[in-house]
Amino acid sequence: MATENNFQAIIAHAKEYGFVFQSSEIYDGLSAVYDYGPWGSELKKNIRDFWWKSMTQMNENIVGIDAAIFMHPTTWKASGHVDNFSDPMIDNKDSKKRYRVDHLVEAFADILKGKGKADEADGLIASMEKFLAADDFVGLKKMIDENKISCSVSGTCNWTEIRQFNLMFKTEFGAVAADNSDDNMVYLRPETAQGIFVNFLNVQKTARMKVPFGIAQTGKAFRNEIVARQFIFRMREFEQMEMQFFVRPGTEGEWYKTWKEERLKWHLSLGLPAEKYRYHDHIKLAHYAKEACDIEFEFPIGFKEVEGIHSRSDFDLKQHQEYSKKKQQYFDADIDPATGKPYGNYIPYVIETSIGLDRMFLLILSNSYQEQTLTKEDGSTDIRTVLNIPAKLAPNKLAILPLMKKEGLTEIGKKLLDECKSSFKCFYEDKDAIGKRYRRQDAIGTPFCVTIDFQTQEDNTVTIRYRDSMTQERIPMSEVKNLVLNAIN
Ligand code: ATP
Repeated sequence: MATENNFQAIIAHAKEYGFVFQSSEIYDGLSAVYDYGPWGSELKKNIRDFWWKSMTQMNENIVGIDAAIFMHPTTWKASGHVDNFSDPMIDNKDSKKRYRVDHLVEAFADILKGKGKADEADGLIASMEKFLAADDFVGLKKMIDENKISCSVSGTCNWTEIRQFNLMFKTEFGAVAADNSDDNMVYLRPETAQGIFVNFLNVQKTARMKVPFGIAQTGKAFRNEIVARQFIFRMREFEQMEMQFFVRPGTEGEWYKTWKEERLKWHLSLGLPAEKYRYHDHIKLAHYAKEACDIEFEFPIGFKEVEGIHSRSDFDLKQHQEYSKKKQQYFDADIDPATGKPYGNYIPYVIETSIGLDRMFLLILSNSYQEQTLTKEDGSTDIRTVLNIPAKLAPNKLAILPLMKKEGLTEIGKKLLDECKSSFKCFYEDKDAIGKRYRRQDAIGTPFCVTIDFQTQEDNTVTIRYRDSMTQERIPMSEVKNLVLNAIN
């Protein structure tokens, strides 16, 4: 059973074994920003590659792009992020819970109404609206204090100042930065999707795509998250893997269903346990959305979203058409059986699949982390920490471990390394007791270890050890490469 303790153990393991480090750790870190170490960066890359291949190589009608992080500021006006990502917030210092101020006051007004003080409640709401309209946060804070509005978690009235909170990071663009105007301001993209939308026609025309088709992209996104205390689950700089699938209006319902199923299949194709997955269908939808759901996974901190599938209508392309004054239409030459004529010009509808790479990384890490109690021959017990990462995602696929750093064995080991390293990532080590070396490989999730000993010199066989079962067998060295390739492909 996944627990909070288990989560702490995973975080500690991720650091100790070179998967994830706190950013700028020597300066005490930067909140909700993380760096990936030697094995973490390999695992992350393998997840990204697996996603990319499943999208762009396994589907003839999906192509990729790699758009810039900086985009024209109007992009974020059109997408709604400038206006909708900003709210006045207040924090309770005791519970650390952050509230949207209007929600806090409205909840208090409801309590007043429940006590038969409707007039007082209405007066409070009216005052709040006045303060908000005037951006008078000092006055609004005073009103919260005077009315002794408390936090529902801590029960206290120990509040911070009110602050406007937009989740987008802004930065200055170009050489002139001193005039403080917004003209030189750009945003760090809060999602990768808009880079796809603004390139819709470029991609459609140059890659000669016909609707229905998709555009895939992986890349960094930045959000100044309010609550960011869950390791790499919620970060301020993270990576997304998104695919926007453009369809003929009227077909979005079936395509939504298809992608909802396809995406869950992708997760399960990694051998991940179906019982830890569930869909969460959204009841409250964004105004432009037709349908939306999350794929949730049972993390050690409970069932949480790992991926979103959204039926976004033609909202995004329409917005960009309006703001850019450039037509975002597609001409569909296929014949509509209802009219006998081509479908003609339209703005396609969009189904989006959006998964966080770091969140998928955490999913793999937390699902594969195991502390196993082993009973030794003398009856005593020992704990083995192992990551049973799916072989195709493992940072190293094969560890080559000559039994001793002795003449002959080293050469054979290096020869096997040379034979395999262009096909998959190998790890070579000829120091320390073999048991210790096996444990270190278990801890970083290496699915196969081969040991080279004196018998290898005589008959070219090696001992292969399997991470999950810990069983060992003697096989010809010439079979090692294919055995690993079969397991990872
Ligand atoms: P949440 O509800 O968890 O904040 P969201 O609904 O805002 O997520 P989307 O905007 O749909 O998320 O982004 C798609 C995916 O990007 C999410 O499913 C998640 O995997 C990932 N993601 C979003 N925000 C973060 C973050 N701050 N850190 C890491 N991954 C994130």
